[in-house]
Amino acid sequence: ALAIPAAVCMLQEQEVHAAEMERTFIAIKPDGVQRGLIAEIISRFERKGFKLVAIKIVVPSKEFAQKHYHDLKERPFFDGLCDFLSSGPVIAMVWEGEGVIKYGRKLIGATDPQKSEPGTIRGDLAVVVGRNIIHGSDGPETAKDEINLWFKPDELVSYSSNAEKWLYG
Ligand code: ADP
Repeated sequence: ALAIPAAVCMLQEQEVHAAEMERTFIAIKPDGVQRGLIAEIISRFERKGFKLVAIKIVVPSKEFAQKHYHDLKERPFFDGLCDFLSSGPVIAMVWEGEGVIKYGRKLIGATDPQKSEPGTIRGDLAVVVGRNIIHGSDGPETAKDEINLWFKPDELVSYSSNAEKWLYG
């Protein structure tokens, strides 16, 4: 085995620490799961260079869906939206990387798939706003809140990947 000098080990440790980056909460909603789009959606985040640090499949209760969408409780579609989110399995994920919150939203596309650009997830794969297959946090505060709502701290895995030095230089 190759002996790694202590100084290099320290450098690696520092790099791992420096690589602690922005995180966002991404969920594939029940329509995306039922339509067999899990791998397609994950691959778009993965190929971009973002890092998956948490993932699980879960059927949220309606109460849980109401918590997740609490900001929208005054909207007319709130009840239907919460019924829908709790209607089947959801893939809950946390993705990490430089600018992942904002760029994740770009990968996802506009809320209404009719207005999403081609090339985006909703633009390419969905047709109507009530079945737009994916959720992504819309800012740093929501990202933090949603990650905390959906995951326990020990479900998040910090690791360094060999790709990072090629992605970030
Ligand atoms: P986004 O998911 O793009 O952040 P919002 O936070 O505004 O969008 O809305 C949350 C979700 O509520 C949307 O993804 C969509 O599923 C649903 N939604 C938004 N607007 C409508 C609407 N007019 N009719 C039905 N469902 C809607």
